[in-house]
Amino acid sequence: MKLVLLGPPGAGKGTQAAMLVEKFGIPQISTGDMLRAAVRDQTPMGIKAKEYMDAGELVPDGVVVGIVCERLQQDDCRDGFILDGFPRTVQQADALRQTLSDKGTLLDSVISLEVNTESLVERLTGRRTCGACGKGYHLKFDPPGSDGRCSVCGGELVHRDDDQEVTIRNRMDVYHQQTAPLEDYYRQEGLLQAIDGMDEIATVQQKIVSVLQAG
Ligand code: ADP
Ligand code: AMP
Repeated sequence: MKLVLLGPPGAGKGTQAAMLVEKFGIPQISTGDMLRAAVRDQTPMGIKAKEYMDAGELVPDGVVVGIVCERLQQDDCRDGFILDGFPRTVQQADALRQTLSDKGTLLDSVISLEVNTESLVERLTGRRTCGACGKGYHLKFDPPGSDGRCSVCGGELVHRDDDQEVTIRNRMDVYHQQTAPLEDYYRQEGLLQAIDGMDEIATVQQKIVSVLQAG
């Protein structure tokens, strides 16, 4: 199963991808997570990417396409993968199509999660992530235990720098200008399946699984 999760920041891509990993045993490929790891490790790419990420802008296509293409060559992607946060531009989508076609394969499905802007802002301002294992939480919608630490590993929860309201608004604009055109791109390819992402986390998951199992 070769799947893309599409949707604005805060739509629930990472949350749903993590659950799909458990269910289908294929890897989640999150360009945001990979870039944050590079920033944390202060690699040359991370140092360059940080200024774009802090501003809520997209990291240049060449950088992101390079890391995804390399990741897709790894063995664990042989039976499928869940792309979360990639592609985000038409150029990235073209590069993905080319990479897959060079391997003699195609995407199976693009799931677009639809959530209104005010809910996205509420989701992102309340998002917390375990600094140790990466598990995601929301202070109101998916809260950690009473000690405020990760319920899986006990790690400390962090609030992403780019989840401040002013940066969030810019990320929404960037989404509408640069990423939303991918909805038509994949609709024209007959791959797009839109899902109402306003439901509870478990309900959204059930809907994604039914769409994938039907397809
Ligand atoms: P994305 O990866 O699309 O940016 P996330 O999966 O990180 O979004 O979700 C953003 C925040 O919203 C997280 O704090 C997550 O716990 C919360 N969240 C995800 N899905 C839902 C949902 N269906 N209802 C309410 N909150 C949600
Ligand atoms: P995310 O974790 O998906 O919200 O991504 C966080 C930030 O990483 C984005 O605001 C961008 O700056 C950068 N980023 C993640 N994925 C991409 C991508 N596919 N193309 C360009 N920039 C990206």
